[in-house]
Amino acid sequence: MANYYEILGVSKTATADEIKSAYRKLAKKYHPDVNPDNPEAEEKFKQCTEAYETLSNSDKRRDYDNFGSSGVGPQTGGVNFGNTNFNYFNNDIEWMFNQVRGNGTYAQIRQNTDIRISIHLKANQIFHDSKINLRYNIKIGCPDCSNEGQINPTPCDVCKGTGVVSQRQQYGNQITETRFQCRKCFGKGKTFSKTCDKCQGFGLKNKSVEKEEIIKVGSLFKQFMVANGGNHEYPDLPAGNLYIHVDLEKQPNFEHDIQYNLLYKQTIDPVQAIMGGEFTIKGIDGKNITFMLEKGFDYKKLEKINNQGLPKSPTERGDLYIQFEFESPKNITEEEEELLIKYLDSRKNKKD
Ligand SMILES: [Zn+2]
Ligand SMILES: [Zn+2]
Repeated sequence: MANYYEILGVSKTATADEIKSAYRKLAKKYHPDVNPDNPEAEEKFKQCTEAYETLSNSDKRRDYDNFGSSGVGPQTGGVNFGNTNFNYFNNDIEWMFNQVRGNGTYAQIRQNTDIRISIHLKANQIFHDSKINLRYNIKIGCPDCSNEGQINPTPCDVCKGTGVVSQRQQYGNQITETRFQCRKCFGKGKTFSKTCDKCQGFGLKNKSVEKEEIIKVGSLFKQFMVANGGNHEYPDLPAGNLYIHVDLEKQPNFEHDIQYNLLYKQTIDPVQAIMGGEFTIKGIDGKNITFMLEKGFDYKKLEKINNQGLPKSPTERGDLYIQFEFESPKNITEEEEELLIKYLDSRKNKKD
């Protein structure tokens, strides 16, 4: 017999919210869209959906708790008495624990969750404070069902809408009253007859948010927080936060080296390398950088140009390293060839 609690990875005392969130996680993981042609994932998806359909409905959940999956779900075979007794036994134990714990309230951790996003700035956005427009989705509580995932509430007939059931027991002339959470409605005080089709029972909806943020110089590779810019699953609690990680768009001529340093690959004619001279390249900030190479410089060494890397802060930049690669000139003229032959002959004589 399928254990729906085990399938969802929740305890038998899980609250409706815990069940919902466990199902959401699994459904996301095993959804057929995410796992095409994966029969194992498909089977898992079916299992957890079946489990969720039962456990998210308080009437079905109660039947399941009492009679097992044979009492609910697609296969309505005969009740297995062994299992039934076993389940009753478990319920009794839980019931006793609830009494020992007091009124049997389940700890409910309700909090709105954070969102993390990465943005990729263009090179011309990193040298001054830049305004960017963000567009992202947040989760909000479904307004059509007030986060319940189900609609048409009716007051729970067991607890008369209070969510709490009390029981009086008499031992001799001593009367004890114990209060515990209503097992039919799980403390909600109401039961529902229909899944909300606006949110497919999740109790949540996506909402697109647009925001304008100023990214200050020196934010590159760092993260900053926008308070209350995150998800807002529970409208009565403050929204989660938004964390923005600032990255750099891939640059065509530069490789981003370690931290704020850049690597620039410069092709060079072998003769140029011999002769050295003045070179000009366009820096990442769009300004020209001119540097001198001495005659016969060591082209295998990286040429370091201080302070022409990425901005670490408004006043500090990383360094730029230039890596040389030989590129032999194509289509050399007869005249050039003659000169090169002369040059090579002259070198040969020197070696002799
Ligand atoms: Zn809804
Ligand atoms: Zn109730």
